[in-house]
Amino acid sequence: MTNSTIAARLLDVIEHDILPLTARGVSLGNKVFGAAILRKSDLSLVIAETNNELENPLWHGEVHALKRFYELGEKPNTKELIFLSTHEPCTMCMSAITWAGFDNFYSFFSHEDSRDAFAIPHDLKILKEVFGLEPGGYRRNNAFWNSFFIADLVESEDDPLKSKLKAQTARIKAAYDDLSSNYQSSKSGNDIPLN
Ligand SMILES: [Zn+2]
Repeated sequence: MTNSTIAARLLDVIEHDILPLTARGVSLGNKVFGAAILRKSDLSLVIAETNNELENPLWHGEVHALKRFYELGEKPNTKELIFLSTHEPCTMCMSAITWAGFDNFYSFFSHEDSRDAFAIPHDLKILKEVFGLEPGGYRRNNAFWNSFFIADLVESEDDPLKSKLKAQTARIKAAYDDLSSNYQSSKSGNDIPLN
C-alpha cells in the first residue's frame, strides 16, 4: 500500500470502503455524505463511516466517523492520521475535525457540488447566514490544518496514473449521482431538520 499515491488511495477508500456503507445508509433514508480516517504512515484504513442523520441530525458522515473513532479501544494520535471527507465538510464538521486535533482534511466534492449537484445547499447557507462568508470564504489553510481537494491531487499526477484516476473519479461521481437521486426522492418522508 505504501507505493500508492495519496490521491489513488483516497479514491480507492471512497469507492470500496465508504460507498458501500453509504449505499446502505441512503437505502435507509440517510444523506449521501461519508468520511474515513487513515494512517499517514501506510495509508491503511482506521475507520470508514457514512451519514446517519436519521438517528441524530449531528451524525454527518464526518462527525459519525469521529464518534466511531473515539469508541475504538486503541487508536492512533490524530496528528498521525488523515481525515477524508467525501464532500467538503460543513462548518460543524470542519470544527469537529479541528477540535479532534487533525492537521488536515481531504475532500472529493466541494460545497458548490453539494448545493448544485446534490441539492443540499445547507453548508453554503450556514457559511453565509451564520458567518457572513461567501463560498470558499473560510481559510482552507490555517494554523490548525491544511485542506485539499482530491481533484487537485489527481491533476498533479503523471500519466498513465492520472488518466486512471480520472476514470475512477468519473465512476465515483456516477455512483453518487444515483445515490443522490435515491435520497432526493425519499427525503420528503424524513424528519431530518435540514434535509
Ligand atoms: Zn457536516
